[in-house]
Amino acid sequence: PPPEAAAAAAQARLRRLERANQRLSAVIGGLPQGVLVFGRDGSLQEINPAGWELLGAAGAGGGVGGTGGAGEASSEDGVGGTDGAAAGGGRLSAASELLQAHGVAAVTEPALHQGEGAEGDVRVPGPEPRWLQAQSQPFAGAGGEPGALVVLRDVTRLRHLEQMRRDFVANVSHELRTPVTSISGFVETLLDNEMCGDAEARRFLQIIQRQSLRLGAIIDDLLSLADIELGEERSSITFADTALAPVISSALLSCGHAAAARGVTLQVACDADLTCRMNAQLVEQAVTNLLDNAINYGSRGAPVAVRARRAAGAVLIEVTDAGSGIAPEHRERIFERFYRVDRARSRDYGGTGLGLAIVKHIAQAHDGEVSVRSSVGRGSTFTLRLPG
Ligand code: ADP
Repeated sequence: PPPEAAAAAAQARLRRLERANQRLSAVIGGLPQGVLVFGRDGSLQEINPAGWELLGAAGAGGGVGGTGGAGEASSEDGVGGTDGAAAGGGRLSAASELLQAHGVAAVTEPALHQGEGAEGDVRVPGPEPRWLQAQSQPFAGAGGEPGALVVLRDVTRLRHLEQMRRDFVANVSHELRTPVTSISGFVETLLDNEMCGDAEARRFLQIIQRQSLRLGAIIDDLLSLADIELGEERSSITFADTALAPVISSALLSCGHAAAARGVTLQVACDADLTCRMNAQLVEQAVTNLLDNAINYGSRGAPVAVRARRAAGAVLIEVTDAGSGIAPEHRERIFERFYRVDRARSRDYGGTGLGLAIVKHIAQAHDGEVSVRSSVGRGSTFTLRLPG
């Protein structure tokens, strides 16, 4: 072909590429989510206008965004409407530092080094603190270099609503505590003083007493949950290296009465020198809840075993019963608040439906987890895993 034709073809191809590039820029630039690219060393390399806006609004105090973040960024000619490293300059590294300081590494690290995506919150302080939900994916950069693609969403409103929900539950529980205590107290006085000789009236009083104790137990569990959630959020729960055996002994002691009532023997296996970084009071509460369940949902007269051991960089506390077990479809859900497989049975033993939700939050507060293995008709093992 004549050189003019070849040049024209090359020109046309270039124009097509430019148009494709512009379309891509417009798409990524127009996304309401922040789209960020991190390099192998974890530094921020590209960010779209929405990303600037999220950081700009939140990080105004940190000198990242400032005014007109979005407009400025979209006028740059980086790929996909993002700021290239050269174009972004100081702002890009300031944004990178801000994100690093607020824990973005927790989502970029797995994408960069383990080849798997992760999800987490980045809380950016400032005059108007923001919660950003970050989701990462491994991403091959321009030269095939490993990188991480992170999508940021503003979840501040959602977190505020969750906060309001938690405050509301905590406030309601506090408000209910006093009248319920007063009802229980007066009913007890009436029953004790034999003021009321009438058998039927006594029977009614006993029902009131039972129900007000039940209500009190639910309120106490709701308050415990609210406390743990608040502690998790404010990172105000204290942890210390603690020997596990005494913690388990205390839990066994508080379940002794219930065990005896059901003819259950409690078996323990825990090395005297086994220690773990924990909040002893919370771990005792978790083990007590698991034991309570094992005793009450286990078979009458069958033993319940608690075993604590170190395995794969974690401490495992296992509580095993030989009860009816839990069908697979319930296994995930029993950790939800008020979820019960058998409502009547839970009520009969005085369950609140909150025991396992509390265990789950205690595990989370320790960066650990609780899980269950179960075989229907044979029994269940609940495992509390605490790191360290
Ligand atoms: P509850 O106060 O009802 O025991 P939990 O949150 O402790 O509440 O437990 C939720 C539900 O999980 C229980 O109602 C019960 O159906 C089931 N469950 C818990 N532990 C066991 C167990 N060891 N064996 C069988 N079912 C269990």
